[in-house]
Amino acid sequence: MAKPAEKQRKPGRNDPCPCGSGRKYKECHLPLEQAARSEQLLLRQAQDTLLPKIIEAARSVPESFPAAFARFWQGKYTLEQMPELDQLEDRGAERFLTWFAFDVRDENGQTLVERLAGHEDFTADPYERRLLDQWRAVRLGAYVVEEVQKGQGLTVRDLLTGEQRPVADYHASKRLAPGEVLVGHLVPADTAPGAATPTCYLAGAAAHLTEDTAAKVLEFAELHLADMRRADPRATWADLIATRSEVLNHFVMALPTEERDPTILDRLISEGRIALQLTAESVAALLGRPAPDAADEEHR
Ligand SMILES: [Zn+2]
Repeated sequence: MAKPAEKQRKPGRNDPCPCGSGRKYKECHLPLEQAARSEQLLLRQAQDTLLPKIIEAARSVPESFPAAFARFWQGKYTLEQMPELDQLEDRGAERFLTWFAFDVRDENGQTLVERLAGHEDFTADPYERRLLDQWRAVRLGAYVVEEVQKGQGLTVRDLLTGEQRPVADYHASKRLAPGEVLVGHLVPADTAPGAATPTCYLAGAAAHLTEDTAAKVLEFAELHLADMRRADPRATWADLIATRSEVLNHFVMALPTEERDPTILDRLISEGRIALQLTAESVAALLGRPAPDAADEEHR
């Protein structure tokens, strides 16, 4: 895995292979590397073509929208407003459809993406099928930008689980800065040669939030986890996301769109506490940590 060296000086086809086998590069690792690169490229392309098909499939089952729509927008909009949603909320219709496809379960407990993965005739492309299989597990998430490689991509951290993910998104890398927050769907696709985990892409529209929201998203999500733990003390972040990922959108919806107003976030959290009938002490107890010491309690 001599990656940095490989970047500096690529061996010629007839040079000895850098792996030290004693064979020529073209007869040893060159064909393997070429195959890996074309595989990577094909998966990357499949990522581009698969998502619109999924969104299309979501659009084709409008009869299942009403309940999901009310959950996602908390009754703020009616289904008739769907055509205007992209203006009313930043790419709102697309965000809803993506969430609907990845997160909403039917009466059999399956999401649309899970159902599509089980349908042989949804797509015949083997690369799309492979991705679809991996995408069954994808749900809405909140991510903080850790590092930006301008014009290439970024590294994000899952705000709830702390897991790091590489994201290949040229446009996002130009408009995002470290500390900012994304609420959206990250789908794994190709794995770069030598990398341990697949590179992710932003599926559909993601909400882009300012730096000051990171700690508040977590606090807001913790309220909902604490609420779940009253019924099931062992509930985890995965359980919260599996059953109530829409709360992340409720947070996004509450944010001011024109002027920044830092008091809105605190109000949102205290209103959430009241609505869920939780006190700061009960939240701490349910999350299994010492009672809060006012403002700067440490998260995890
Ligand atoms: Zn070799």
